[in-house]
Amino acid sequence: MVRTLLRDCLQGKMLTEEEAVRLASAQGEEFAALLAAAAELRNRHKGKIITFSPKVFIPLTNLCRDFCGYCTFRRAPEEAGAKTLTLGEVLQVVRRGKQLGCTEVLFSLGDRPEAIYPEMRAFLTQLGLRRTLDYLFLACRVVLEETGLLPHSNPGLMGRKDLECLKEVNASLGLMLENVSERLLLPSGPHFLAPDKKPGLRLRTVEEAGKLRIPFTTGILIGIGETWEEKKSSFRILGRSRIFPCMTNPSPRSRRCSKPLRSRA
Ligand code: SF4
Repeated sequence: MVRTLLRDCLQGKMLTEEEAVRLASAQGEEFAALLAAAAELRNRHKGKIITFSPKVFIPLTNLCRDFCGYCTFRRAPEEAGAKTLTLGEVLQVVRRGKQLGCTEVLFSLGDRPEAIYPEMRAFLTQLGLRRTLDYLFLACRVVLEETGLLPHSNPGLMGRKDLECLKEVNASLGLMLENVSERLLLPSGPHFLAPDKKPGLRLRTVEEAGKLRIPFTTGILIGIGETWEEKKSSFRILGRSRIFPCMTNPSPRSRRCSKPLRSRA
């Protein structure tokens, strides 16, 4: 069965979902044949050149309102290692990265920490801001204007206005779907205390980014308690999304979003 499916693949036939799941369960010699067929298709369609862009990692804040069961990134304000970077600290790291040849800046941060932590609200207030997304916009703009490196941000859920603004100061944006399964939100599931991991909300962000033709990264998380069926459903739904995957350069200065996001709400 597996070898017949692989022969069909090599001849260009599209697999059904059931056939794809069957391939994914291949073991032993069948698994070796699966790898060989995958390598053949890769060589035929993509070749063996791997490209990458050196980037600086900026964990803008590791405070987060969600509590994903597998997360090793988030901290509560009172925990050791809790940190929200100031603009000065961001620029210091980015400039060092630029000296080392980096061309992009990856902003990673928790989702809406101001919703549960007064410490984050106080940090934002002293800057005249209301939301962490406002602060991200400011940090991206400063990095772009001061260093010329291209931001790519993964800030969690974004509404249409957020996407429109962040588009102006990012080369690309990203949000992992993680998984389309609502089951993972149930008690004892990894997303039980993570309101921003509702699949419908995440798909809405992905869809809006596609409509706005924003270069966007997304995907699924593997090994968080999902089943093969749930992986399959997630890929199928992402496959139907309107994602615009190419890279473009943002304008060096924000035209439409010269003010913090909150003033545009
Ligand atoms: S959303 Fe979840 S995975 Fe992301 S930082 Fe928060 S707790 Fe961690």
